[in-house]
Amino acid sequence: MKIFDSIGRMRIPKQKFDEQESKKEPKIIRECYCPNGHILMNENTKFNKHNAITILLKRKKEKGLLFLSPICGDKNRVTMDINIISQEIINFHCPECNIELGSYAPCHCGGNLKILFCTPELEYNHFLGICNREGCSNAVVKKGEELYSCLDIN
Ligand SMILES: [Zn+2]
Ligand SMILES: [Zn+2]
Repeated sequence: MKIFDSIGRMRIPKQKFDEQESKKEPKIIRECYCPNGHILMNENTKFNKHNAITILLKRKKEKGLLFLSPICGDKNRVTMDINIISQEIINFHCPECNIELGSYAPCHCGGNLKILFCTPELEYNHFLGICNREGCSNAVVKKGEELYSCLDIN
């Protein structure tokens, strides 16, 4: 299968995750930002019609992109131009300005939960935390006083 369609958009095979089947409305991350305020959503790459969260991965001389499903609890991830070794911990950067994303807390797996701000105001009480260890799908949403795991939502 070709990875890109005729107008250069990345094709991602239809996911098993079906929103209609879920009784509860799935939580969709509609926006997230780097520490410099760049939008980390990619309009040209979609998971079930929703813009993918896009992160630049860097390792010594290599770099590539990581596309994450913005649907909470959906573990689908796609990488481009870089092969991540299973269990590898890799740094997350903004594809726009290259800044490394900050860490919120260590993940139980030994990786780190990286901060993706949910508002352009870059508030530390409203963000998405995503583990940067390959193979770990831990993700949390911090909103005000609440902190909940994305894996528990659906
Ligand atoms: Zn940036
Ligand atoms: Zn983890």
